[in-house]
Amino acid sequence: MWPVRARCVECFSSDVEWEAASGRAELYSFVVVHQPYPGFEEPYVLATVQTPEGVRFNTSIVGADADELTIGMQLAVVFDPVSDDVVVPKFQPVPG
Ligand SMILES: [Zn+2]
Repeated sequence: MWPVRARCVECFSSDVEWEAASGRAELYSFVVVHQPYPGFEEPYVLATVQTPEGVRFNTSIVGADADELTIGMQLAVVFDPVSDDVVVPKFQPVPG
């Protein structure tokens, strides 16, 4: 489940636990943002990615220009340490 919840969204069971994910995903949808916003250098890409574990995840795409992106392309997670306390998972295209 994402976002994390204390109970299953299907059956309301509280028998839930953390599970490691593969770090892989495919590009489900994206937009190119041109609006200036503090902390972001435009244009930048906001995306929804679909993981093989069945979770859709809203994230940023890095390591590629927007015109290189195609729906369904394979992605891998990268972790961006934006401060001492916060690490943001982002995704970049897998070569090949
Ligand atoms: Zn359930």
